[in-house]
Amino acid sequence: MQDANNLTVRDVTTALESWAPPALQESYDNSGLLVGRMSDSVDSILVSLDCTEEVVQEAIELGANMIVSHHPIVFKGLKRFNGSTYVERTVMKAIAHGIALYAIHTNLDNVSDGVNMKLAKLVGCKPDSLRILRPKPDALMQVVVYVPEEQAQKVSQAMFAAGAGEIGAYDECGWTVPGKGTFRPLEGANPHIGIIGERESVVESKLEVVVEPWRLAAVISAMQNAHPYEQVAHGVWTLQQVHDQVGSGMLGELPQPMEEGAFLDTVKSALGCATIRHTNLLGRDVRKVAVCGGSGSFLLQDAISAGADVLVTSDFKYHEFFDADKRIVIADVGHYESEWQTTDLIVNRIKKYFPNFAVHLAEANPNPIHYR
Ligand SMILES: [Zn+2]
Repeated sequence: MQDANNLTVRDVTTALESWAPPALQESYDNSGLLVGRMSDSVDSILVSLDCTEEVVQEAIELGANMIVSHHPIVFKGLKRFNGSTYVERTVMKAIAHGIALYAIHTNLDNVSDGVNMKLAKLVGCKPDSLRILRPKPDALMQVVVYVPEEQAQKVSQAMFAAGAGEIGAYDECGWTVPGKGTFRPLEGANPHIGIIGERESVVESKLEVVVEPWRLAAVISAMQNAHPYEQVAHGVWTLQQVHDQVGSGMLGELPQPMEEGAFLDTVKSALGCATIRHTNLLGRDVRKVAVCGGSGSFLLQDAISAGADVLVTSDFKYHEFFDADKRIVIADVGHYESEWQTTDLIVNRIKKYFPNFAVHLAEANPNPIHYR
C-alpha cells in the first residue's frame, strides 16, 4: 500500500494506467498527463468529467494539486498562451498554480470495467450478461520462448508477474512443451551451457503465453532478466483473434423484457435526462441493450448485428437517426448524461488504490448543454 503522504503524479498515473492503459486510447485522443511533471507530489486530487477554469478554481480552493478528468482539456496543438480561449486560460491557470492535469478518456471507454460497464449497469443490464460490443482487433500477441527445462518455471513466473497470460477472468495462462534445443557458441560468446565451437543440445521447454501489446516491453524485459541464456531465443506474434476484454461499447441483457417506452423512461430517470431523442418505437420488448458513453453513433451497425433492441448513447446527427431503419431504437440520451457517472468510477478507483488519500468530486462540473 502506498503511503498517502508521499504520493507523486507518477504514483497516481501508474495506478490509473494499470486499469486503463494509455495505449488503448483512440488515435484522435489526448489522454495522459497534459500539465505537470511525473515527479510532482500530490496532496489531494479533484475528479471531474471536464476540466474547465471553474474546475481549476475549485482545485485551488480545495488545495488539490492534481485534476483527473475524463475529457482532455487539450485536444489539439496550442500555439499561444495569451488567454484568448477557455482552453488556454484553463491550462495557464493550472500551470500558474502548480496543478497537474491528467485525462483518462477513450482508454477508459475501451476497458471492460470502465465507462460503458457503468452505463450498462445504470440502464439496468444484468452485470453477468455484459460483453464488449466491438472488441478490439490486433490487441493480443503471443510470446514464445525456449528455456532450459529446470529454469522454465522461473521464466514463466517472471512473465506472468509482468502481465503475460491474462485471458478474461484467468491469469497465469500458458502452455509448455518439452523439446530439444541446439546451438553452437561462437568465438566471443559467454555461454551458460556448452563449449565454444561445439554444437550443444539441451533439453528445453517451449513456453507460450498471450500478451497485450501495451505489456509486451515489460514482459520481454522480465523474460530476458529471468532467462539464463546470453541470447534468448524467442518469437513474438500478433494474433488475429479479437481481444474480448477491450473495445468499444457494451452489450447487455435486461433481467426481464420491458416495453420500449417503459425502458426509455427508466433510462431517463437513471441518467437524469431532461429528454431523450429517439427513433420510432418498434412495438417489441427490449431484451438486449447496447450502450456507449459519449459519442456512439459509430456503433449503430455493431448494435444491430449483435441483436440489440436499443442503442443508448449520444451525439447522433439528424440523418443518422434514419439509419436505425426499423431495426433498432436509437436512444440519444445526451453526452453529459451518458458519462457523468464516470467521475464516480474514477473517484472509487483512486480510493481503492490509495484508501487514505483525499479525493474530491468536482462540484463545478456542469453540463454545457441546457434544455427547456
Ligand atoms: Zn465524452
